[in-house]
Amino acid sequence: MGHGTQQRRAVVIGGSLGGLFAGLLLARAGWDVVICERAGEALASRGAGIVTHPEMHAAMVAAGADPGDGLGITVEGRVVLDRDGRPLCAVDDPHVLTSWGRAYGFLRRACPDGIYHHGKALARIEQVPGQVIAHFEDGSRETGSILVAADGAQSTARRLLFPEAGLAYAGYCAWRGMVDEGLLTPGTHARLMRRVAFCLPTGEQMLGYPVAGADEDIRPGRQRFNFVWYRPVDAEAGRRHLFTASDGTDHGFAIPPHRIRPDLVAEARSDAARLLAPAFAEVVARTPQPFLQAIFDLETPAMTVGRVAFLGDAAFVARPHVGMGVTKAAGDAMALVEALSQAPDIDAGLAAYAARRHEFGRRVVRRGRHLGAYMQAQQLSPEERLQAERHRSPEAVMNETAVLAGIERW
Ligand SMILES: Cc1cc2nc3c(=O)[nH]c(=O)nc-3n(C[C@H](O)[C@H](O)[C@H](O)COP(=O)(O)OP(=O)(O)OC[C@H]3O[C@@H](n4cnc5c(N)ncnc54)[C@H](O)[C@@H]3O)c2cc1C
Repeated sequence: MGHGTQQRRAVVIGGSLGGLFAGLLLARAGWDVVICERAGEALASRGAGIVTHPEMHAAMVAAGADPGDGLGITVEGRVVLDRDGRPLCAVDDPHVLTSWGRAYGFLRRACPDGIYHHGKALARIEQVPGQVIAHFEDGSRETGSILVAADGAQSTARRLLFPEAGLAYAGYCAWRGMVDEGLLTPGTHARLMRRVAFCLPTGEQMLGYPVAGADEDIRPGRQRFNFVWYRPVDAEAGRRHLFTASDGTDHGFAIPPHRIRPDLVAEARSDAARLLAPAFAEVVARTPQPFLQAIFDLETPAMTVGRVAFLGDAAFVARPHVGMGVTKAAGDAMALVEALSQAPDIDAGLAAYAARRHEFGRRVVRRGRHLGAYMQAQQLSPEERLQAERHRSPEAVMNETAVLAGIERW
């Protein structure tokens, strides 16, 4: 099996988790690899949590970045709290939660010298028979037999090849934040730091879990509690209200945390005290700088175009309820390398990759839409309404959020 005399050089665009998985796995399969990252210096964590699955761990091992037992923090299970803080339902289900920075650290340290380049922003793609040329904003170029587009939700490669494929706003936003575990009262600490905890005011969803603290430290006492509080926000007036700074600047759908108006943070804190279990209200009150994230999703029209393969968030962006962003990127990278290794030539390998992962990505996006539909500010279709009803009981939220099993049914 293999590629005979075909040149095997991969230009990977994007040096976050998806790009690192692809680059490392391809290098270990014998490819000559270059990873081209737009950011001029080491990427810094956005600090929020990441749900891991055994598939992600397995991909790290295969990529030569075995984290052993140190990938993250193991929680005992899940619990849903009512408005008064009483458990409505709970399940034992040990799970490892980590941070982007911790996963990035393991993968980045496994990178052979000289293959990872900063300050390389893809500007244009040129395809000639059997080759693809990446042109960068600094005027340089890299030629490969394939180009792996791992450049994330705002992918330049996707914009170049599928200008019509845009991110679709889900109809709700999340208040997010993190607080040092040492700032929590003992009662709140005991209630929230051992399980993934949920609270479900009508049409909303709060969830949180422990993550690494400063310097990606996961030792007890140094961790943080990380929360995500989804609330419906209509795309017009509601969005403008939330994402406009004190000086009147409208930040679209992405506002830097320090630009969020203090009156909105105060309003969120008082809403939290009114609507959420006391432990969650305390977390929102004690989080120094909550931030806002609008929820989007996106489907790529195709996983490959000629010698370009899309992967991770460049291909499919699912709403966060599926808890699969990193695991999907890792699975794409594993499937790509396996398909290229088993096929008689590169084009057949890319076709096999597309056949395997396109439908999977669509299922993940679809499942995320159904899990989040009950929080949408906009009108639902009859089918969405039916699904929404099904997914909003405490048991359903607890048992279906960030769970991989059954994804093939979607
Ligand atoms: C710094 C950082 C922190 C993150 N923190 C979290 C987190 O805390 N929790 C969470 O759930 N998810 C986080 N994510 C997103 C998460 O990594 C993805 O949702 C998921 O892992 C899929 O990864 P990806 O590699 O496909 O995309 P991304 O992680 O979005 O990576 C895309 C990469 O491509 C680079 N890039 C973009 N355009 C170009 C271009 N034109 N040329 C070259 N490079 C380009 C970007 O700089 C980025 O490094 C973070 C992403 C980044 C980049």
